Amino acid sequence: MSERHILVINCGSSSIKFALLGETREQPLLSGLAECLGSADALLRWQAGEDKQRLPIPGADHRGALAQLLALIERTAVTLSGIGHRVVHGGEHFTAAHLLDAPTLTAIRSVSALAPLHNPACLQGIEAALSLYPQLPQVAVFDTAFHQSMPAHAYRYAVPETLYREQGVRRYGFHGSSHRYVSRRAAQLTGLPVEASSWLVAHLGNGSSTCAIVNGQSLDTSMGMTPLEGVVMGTRSGDVDPGLHGHLMRTLGWSLEQVDSMLNKQSGLLGLSGLSNDMRSLEQARLEGHPGASLAIEVFCYRLAKSLAAMSCALPQLDGLIFTGGIGENSALIRSKTIGHLKLLHLALDPAANARAVAGCSGEIQASGHPRVLVVPTNEERQIALDTLALLPN
Ligand code: ADP
Repeated sequence: MSERHILVINCGSSSIKFALLGETREQPLLSGLAECLGSADALLRWQAGEDKQRLPIPGADHRGALAQLLALIERTAVTLSGIGHRVVHGGEHFTAAHLLDAPTLTAIRSVSALAPLHNPACLQGIEAALSLYPQLPQVAVFDTAFHQSMPAHAYRYAVPETLYREQGVRRYGFHGSSHRYVSRRAAQLTGLPVEASSWLVAHLGNGSSTCAIVNGQSLDTSMGMTPLEGVVMGTRSGDVDPGLHGHLMRTLGWSLEQVDSMLNKQSGLLGLSGLSNDMRSLEQARLEGHPGASLAIEVFCYRLAKSLAAMSCALPQLDGLIFTGGIGENSALIRSKTIGHLKLLHLALDPAANARAVAGCSGEIQASGHPRVLVVPTNEERQIALDTLALLPN
């Protein structure tokens, strides 16, 4: 059979990230971003190998941008076998990726109340792609699906049961494609069978989460009903006292929208440092003596270590702790400070191996005689393409 190709699409409210992947290749043939959709500044940017291009598409919406993108793919002489759509929230309905048909679309719509910012944007992209390519198999891959294996003691909040039964108030978890991909890669790299191995994962990007994975299944994760729960992120607070909302409403007269926006957009590394949400900038500022940058890094690492220690409750043994995401794959400083707080798990790093594991290098970085610590570059697009391929008719 000739090489099959999948277009992976990740839609935001005014953007579409995309990647064109071949079945047997790790890296995309083409990848890029359509941004500022619905405005006069709408722009399509893409990269094929070293070649970078851009095309203004003024006024284009999701459908307009996808039509340009599909024309671009036709020029590469690749025939698409399917499209994989990243969908943020699948609620309890989806425990795995699903072929897109009318009932699937209805089910995605029905869980949109749980992700009011994200799922409607995904649906816009899905509807546009289905109308442009009605004959092509298309698959929804959910960020939450991988975590549906969590046991009730990990996914339930200690709030009245009716809120769970009637409103779906529970922990769902996100970043499923990344946690799944890197735990499988770690098993490959170490020669351990996925179905008989136990991992802790720290996915550290603009959004960050930790995960406990046993025998290929997620047993706990730090994000909850929304992607706000858990560790410190670029602009998201992670865990705060749930009493904070009421306090700010009573003392400052803030509305729920103001509290929500502050916790999602002005907190995390940005809020702590008063400088930036970007870890690279903070590391530089810390070297120059910026106290806010130093504090943000210290809080980030301590809370991350606490989350990993908490996740270890779900493991029968530790075959390895995996760092991934832009920060996890590149920052020797963050890895070393985080591991420094985990002495009770007997974790320790080899400084030289830690320093070498940057810019796409994967490998083991633990000190000799200590539990395995791995740096594994994530590839969410590839995982989405693999999940899509698995559902295509042969
Ligand atoms: P996203 O969650 O948007 O996919 P990424 O996984 O690309 O984000 O991660 C972005 C984060 O990675 C930013 O905070 C960025 O500063 C950080 N990062 C990238 N390279 C480095 C580096 N060399 N050192 C420290 N942080 C880095």
